[in-house]
Amino acid sequence: MRRFAHYDFWDDRVRRSIMLDSRADILVYGMGERQIVEIARRLDAGEGLSGIPGTVELRREPPAGAHLLPPEAEAIRDRRAYSRFYREFHQNQHRVLAQESGKRFIVQHPPPRMSGEELDAVHALPFARLPHPFYTDEVPGFATVRASLVSHRGCVSGCAFCSIALHQGRRIVRRSEGSVLEEAALLASSKGFGGHITDVGGPSANMYGAVCAADWRCSRESCLYPEICPNLRINTASWMGLLARTLELPGVRHATVGSGIRYDLFMRDDPSLLDRLARHHVSGRLKIAPEHTSAGVLDVMRKRHLYGMEDFADAFHSASSRAGRRQFIVPYLMSCHPGCRMGDMREMRKRVLAAFGFVPEQVQAFIPLPLTLSSAIYHTGMDPLTGEEIFVARTDQERRGQHDVFHKKRNS
Ligand code: SF4
Repeated sequence: MRRFAHYDFWDDRVRRSIMLDSRADILVYGMGERQIVEIARRLDAGEGLSGIPGTVELRREPPAGAHLLPPEAEAIRDRRAYSRFYREFHQNQHRVLAQESGKRFIVQHPPPRMSGEELDAVHALPFARLPHPFYTDEVPGFATVRASLVSHRGCVSGCAFCSIALHQGRRIVRRSEGSVLEEAALLASSKGFGGHITDVGGPSANMYGAVCAADWRCSRESCLYPEICPNLRINTASWMGLLARTLELPGVRHATVGSGIRYDLFMRDDPSLLDRLARHHVSGRLKIAPEHTSAGVLDVMRKRHLYGMEDFADAFHSASSRAGRRQFIVPYLMSCHPGCRMGDMREMRKRVLAAFGFVPEQVQAFIPLPLTLSSAIYHTGMDPLTGEEIFVARTDQERRGQHDVFHKKRNS
């Protein structure tokens, strides 16, 4: 995410590419398996490392046909130039990109297009499924993932604050059912397995079966914003089927979704599946990420609720009651995102309290991640894709004020 000039929140300035600061020969971005194998093959054969898809390199001249981005020095010096640079970077991910940096060029090669079969082959590798032996003490995050399975990569949302689409792409690449079930069986027979597979999912679990009728070849920034694309087929049933078959394996007593679902897609696709989800595949708490309730803030985030948050809360609680289970929704929310003012936070608190009956703690203060659309908006105070000026809560006081709307102890 630091492959080109990028805004760094901790330094509060635009930094040059990490290629220069690290003096690396090559940078691998995205998930990297193909790149690493190709780099190893070329090194073994004594070949150069130029032109590998999914990598960034330094060159004296840009390759023929490369799309030239505004130079790094301009992007560092001037907010408007940074905004222009960002727009071109964002809209041309499918092309070879080059940015002048001193006497050289930073060159990004577009990502490789991975197939489902390749993803199966990656997951069939003999992973230890343990923290690296370097760690002698218990690794706190390990308990969360020890019994979870990755079913797919990619996220169709393309939310402005998130880096997943820049790492994994918007296109959903999914593992075959056989591959996931094989791993589930391996997990179920492993020492210490307690009978509970805690997740079968990806960036949003219920995107597992999503396909695009146009084979994911288009220039939209999101498949869901501003409206759901007519070419998108969600196919929630295939993910639910995967969960059900995981539950049938010997030794598995529970197979639940731990990572969270995109609830509005779930309801837009097949709401009749909610009963099955609530009865069999939620372990007391279902995570969702509305992020905000203000239409203005959601527009800056490139996120729109495609189904009412309150309606979903009602539907989920009813489905849980029918299943005889007392279950909760855990909504993930965000303060301080560009476009968000104190009034938006107060309004969100009211709506969330009314919908869920409690004020959640899962409110994160927005931190701009390098090279995301939101970081460009935060830095420049304008949306690079529309040119619109955007309010940004920037000072510690403003940011703390927004965050405290949810976190400070209150009587209500
Ligand atoms: S055509 Fe629609 S579904 Fe396909 S990638 Fe583009 S926006 Fe997404």
